Amino acid sequence: MSILIKNVTHFLKNSKVDIYIEGNTIKKIDKNINLEAEEIIDGTDKIACPAFSNMHTHASMVMFRGYADDMPLMEWLEKKIWPVEYRLTEEDVYIGTKFACLEMIKSGTTLVNDMYWHFNACYRAVEESGIRAILNAVMIDMFDKKRQKENEKRTIDIFDRYFNKNPLITVGLGPHAVYTVSENGLRFASEFAKEKNTFIHIHLSETLKEVEDCVKRTGQRPPFYLDSLGLLSGKTLLAHCVWLNAKEINLLAEKKCTAIHNPVSNMKLAVGGIMPLKELNSKGVNIAIGTDGAASNNNLDMFEEIKIAAILQKWRNSDPSDPDAYKILRFANAGFRVLGLKSGELEEGDIADIVLIKMEECLIPDHNPVSNIVYSANGSMVDTTICNGKVLMKNRYVEWEEKIKEDFTKMVKKLFYSS
Ligand SMILES: [Zn+2]
Repeated sequence: MSILIKNVTHFLKNSKVDIYIEGNTIKKIDKNINLEAEEIIDGTDKIACPAFSNMHTHASMVMFRGYADDMPLMEWLEKKIWPVEYRLTEEDVYIGTKFACLEMIKSGTTLVNDMYWHFNACYRAVEESGIRAILNAVMIDMFDKKRQKENEKRTIDIFDRYFNKNPLITVGLGPHAVYTVSENGLRFASEFAKEKNTFIHIHLSETLKEVEDCVKRTGQRPPFYLDSLGLLSGKTLLAHCVWLNAKEINLLAEKKCTAIHNPVSNMKLAVGGIMPLKELNSKGVNIAIGTDGAASNNNLDMFEEIKIAAILQKWRNSDPSDPDAYKILRFANAGFRVLGLKSGELEEGDIADIVLIKMEECLIPDHNPVSNIVYSANGSMVDTTICNGKVLMKNRYVEWEEKIKEDFTKMVKKLFYSS
């Protein structure tokens, strides 16, 4: 498959170029490329930039969007979320995840790092949608031995079935957090991930209560506790990282972990702190950005997330220059590099995960496309989404969108409103 994008504004060069894609790679970027291509895309009045990686979410939770907001965390979980989650079938999660994939494609995300129940359903939905993913086998045992053994068995089954089956989908481990997974469960995750040389995705130090409870139970704060179980490495993806001290930041840097910033969820759930992004970044911890699930966001729009990340961190640092727009945009596609893929600059040799953004009123004038993308654009301006050299959306249309919208609406009606 070959694609030629004509006359598009390059987000970094701020000049018109043609982009030639062959297979899954950007082969050539130049003015007036004269090469045959199977698909020609007119890039006039559009900006080309690398696609986003949403590095922490629970995709299928789009079904909870607007269902229960503005409540204390435990009441929200116990009264609203858990009773519905308990009733979820594999088919419900499939439809929810696929609908989330549609939302992500429509807002320029082509890589998602996900954690949710019913792995088969998540896998099937993501595979059909054509986006990339790190799908993590979720583990929650609530310190119950029987549940922990069940988690182990389910995880092994998932890996037997899906590991290394699709080059776009990486299968990882998803021990939920230190307050939901026992020591044995975390130890298993750590050893199994090493054996498979794959990722571990875990929530870390999201609230102060999590930190204090962990100290009470284990005598250690969460990062050092996880490290004592061998769980921290260059393949550990840590969501939230709000309540960290200087020693812990050094530890995450030494272990080469990735810290994932989820500013909207943190503020909406009022976790009482802000990720120390500046300190993490300056010590060399890899930084990525995620939306978290739609129950606590309430959308999967990475444009919104990066603007809020930028302004929240500037406010925290009392410094309008740090982080700047370019730095934030790099964090927004960091997931591709976590997977070892060349991406971020939109240059020859990069993986062909690209979005074309329509230059609507709020992107004019074009003094600086990077600034416009971070501070002014939103997901509904994405016109074209390309993943791994394949066009998933063109002219804001995804082939399967009507069908999944219909199925999703029906499923939500059944799940929430029929007794
Ligand atoms: Zn989460």
